[in-house]
Amino acid sequence: MGNQLTLTKEQKKFKALLLEIPKTEIHLHLEGLASVDTIWQLMSEHQIPVNGVSSKADLQGKFQIKSLDEFIALFIDVIQNCFQADADFEYLNRDARDYLKRNNIVYSEIFFAPTKFILNGFSFESMIEKLDRGARRLEDEDGIVVRYIIDVSRGYGVDNAMKNLDLTIKNRTKRIIGIGLGGAELHGPAKDYQKVFERAIANDLHVVAHAGEDVGPQSIWDTLKYLKASRIGHGISAIEDEKLMEHLAKTQIPLEICPTSNLFTRKYATTIKNHPIRAFFDHGMNVTVNTDDPTLFGVDLLDEYMKLRTNDIFSETEIVQLIRNGVYATFQSDAAKAALWKRVEEKIKPA
Ligand SMILES: [Zn+2]
Repeated sequence: MGNQLTLTKEQKKFKALLLEIPKTEIHLHLEGLASVDTIWQLMSEHQIPVNGVSSKADLQGKFQIKSLDEFIALFIDVIQNCFQADADFEYLNRDARDYLKRNNIVYSEIFFAPTKFILNGFSFESMIEKLDRGARRLEDEDGIVVRYIIDVSRGYGVDNAMKNLDLTIKNRTKRIIGIGLGGAELHGPAKDYQKVFERAIANDLHVVAHAGEDVGPQSIWDTLKYLKASRIGHGISAIEDEKLMEHLAKTQIPLEICPTSNLFTRKYATTIKNHPIRAFFDHGMNVTVNTDDPTLFGVDLLDEYMKLRTNDIFSETEIVQLIRNGVYATFQSDAAKAALWKRVEEKIKPA
């Protein structure tokens, strides 16, 4: 992948600049940040058997997924399932901190999907309390701001999504800012979740949804119509619908593009060169760059930007524009966005 690439002198210089630039990330799953070390440690500690895994190398092998369904099974049955004690959530806090620091991400909106954990006996309140504490520490000690979006997964149905929303409203902190619809789109059309989203909006929560990741453009239209999502997770099947691309360009609804993740699911892009991100950019659509699940896809945010640069998909100036889109697509206040963008500008102005 991108990190094995030999970089030219110029590319190395750009990568160093990219690291210097304070960045945001808005499509990132907390569980997808759990390192292989963490999962291995939890598996061993709690003696959780995983089919075909008797060493850390086997576990690493499990992460070579080939489809979205395989991915979701790994996410739920292996990663989420390994968490058995409240204290385990400290590992997630630690892995998140390492990742954000390593990539100089200073503001991030991170998905957390509570359902499987709740089914395994955790209380929503205690998980949120742990994650909130981790985020507060990160802010105090490292100046990194984390906000959470509760992922109400399609895989568990509408009633469960409404339950998660109720829990979110009840246990809201300033760090819990919204809900997101995740999971494979074939498992449930956006329309089914309309009431959940209406209620979230009425309660001043931000709403986002995965759409157009493994299903055609109608899924994106429906997400806009029924869920009134402020941002679209992936949205890459829009490439099949000129009218939709026009609409997205006109409304400037941000797309949370995760290039490497999309290559794993292989639905609308098979190589970075035929990924629709460039076409979207040329259509004037508001695209941002994200990783989705760094451990599962073996990718860092820095790698994602470098992959787009070294494959000549975007120029250095355009990459900076993508970073800017990422700043302004967040749910921060306008003043906070402007202040963060100013910090970026200070890094990129010629010496
Ligand atoms: Zn995602």
